[in-house]
Amino acid sequence: MLTMKFGGTSVGDVLRLQEVVSIVKTFLHERPVVVASAMGGVTNILLASAQSAVERKNNAVEQNIQVLRDKHTAIARALIHDDARLTRLLQQQQALIDELANLYHGVALLKELSPRSLDAIASFGEILSCNQLSAILEESGVPSRFIDARTIIRTDSHFGEAAVDFPHSNKLIADLLVPLVAQNIVPVVTGFIASTEDGLTTTIGRSGSDYTGSIVGAAVDSREIWIWTDVDGVMSADPRSIKNAAVLSEISYREAAEMSYFGAKVIHPKTMTPAIEKNIPIRIKNTFNPSAPGTLISKATQSTASVVKTVTSIDNLSIISIEGNGMVGVPGISARIFSSLARMRVNVMMISQASSEHNVCIVVPKTDCDRAVKELRNEFAIDIAKKIIDDIAVQEPMSIVAVVGEGMRGTWGIAGKTFDAVAQAHVNIIAIAQGSSELNISFVVEQKEAVAAVQAVHDAFYH
Ligand code: ADP
Ligand code: ASP
Ligand code: MG
Repeated sequence: MLTMKFGGTSVGDVLRLQEVVSIVKTFLHERPVVVASAMGGVTNILLASAQSAVERKNNAVEQNIQVLRDKHTAIARALIHDDARLTRLLQQQQALIDELANLYHGVALLKELSPRSLDAIASFGEILSCNQLSAILEESGVPSRFIDARTIIRTDSHFGEAAVDFPHSNKLIADLLVPLVAQNIVPVVTGFIASTEDGLTTTIGRSGSDYTGSIVGAAVDSREIWIWTDVDGVMSADPRSIKNAAVLSEISYREAAEMSYFGAKVIHPKTMTPAIEKNIPIRIKNTFNPSAPGTLISKATQSTASVVKTVTSIDNLSIISIEGNGMVGVPGISARIFSSLARMRVNVMMISQASSEHNVCIVVPKTDCDRAVKELRNEFAIDIAKKIIDDIAVQEPMSIVAVVGEGMRGTWGIAGKTFDAVAQAHVNIIAIAQGSSELNISFVVEQKEAVAAVQAVHDAFYH
């Protein structure tokens, strides 16, 4: 079997969908399982409309509902010619969008928008997209079945970024999909969405369809997991900001996880986990250029390419610094910082502590910053009153720049070359991660200087 995940751009318009059909047909002999995202931009529209609904901006909601209707019905009309199939698909689309409109209505009436409601709303993107993709495959003569992942992927109820229950899900996935594939039916599974034991809709994190691809691919013992996107593979930097970024032919699972964690949006960081467990290679491929070899992500890399593989950056971060001369030698401060933040489920991206111990910096997403600071002020209220801690200060917006590559340890001069390049670009480094893993060097700069820093470091290693 071969699991192929198609991203939002790849299922985003008529031409792309025709290409998807042609790709699936090319690999029919490999017995494909398809996983797909919502059409490009749809998840953002769904979530933005939810916000408009809670603010009772009815016109904005209605306009967006119309945009979604038009977007999907246009695809159906362009790509489905069989009358019965077209009528059925259009009816399904209308019914789904009517249901969505009801949800928005409920949100507006209650003036309440919980993470649970957001997940229910967000799920419509993948449902609409995969239902239509399955019909399009059938139209082109490929027997196919639409599979709502809520019936096969179980999670906890941490809405917005739910954790997968693997033992349960793996069995459900294999039991449903393997027999279908054996009958030469191509399953089209919704990415991104899942459900709790009680049947509530959850999502597994933004851009999570890659992760679904890997969950499904591992559960059915795929030969490989292919992630079809809109670039030729994983590149040495984000091609949108770094024009001379180069495609990497091979990287390791660890490198892929590290670079995606630090902002390489091309693959979701969790995608590697299920694949590693079964040692299934992941390949990143371009639907705009299907014959290009793409990037192979696997256990070992034979490639003797540069020690540094990518330079990435991640924006919209805040630095929280906790400082005070009284902190020196006081045991347990770091432990208290981390347990308070863990309690609030704040995602700590990076920590840096000055060796003098009187300053601890933590880097968190800007969206978590207010909650984090509030919790820390609470936790340290007495220490602040006693002047053990002088201040909890925030600086934002910040970016982390990360240089990632296996084998950086033991290679002298990588850090020196990195920081020299940043200095020569006149970018000020605000903090450097302490105890960073051997495959990355990461540091914080002001967001407005991030691209310049990435370009400078990229130029130093790729010329
Ligand atoms: P999809 O909708 O297929 O999931 P995404 O937009 O999530 O696609 O991811 C692909 C995009 O990731 C590319 O268009 C590219 O701009 C961006 N990107 C960021 N960093 C990298 C990188 N290091 N290599 C390749 N692409 C990257
Ligand atoms: N549609 C979801 C998102 O935009 C998941 C995905 O595309 O991977 O976040
Ligand atoms: Mg993506």
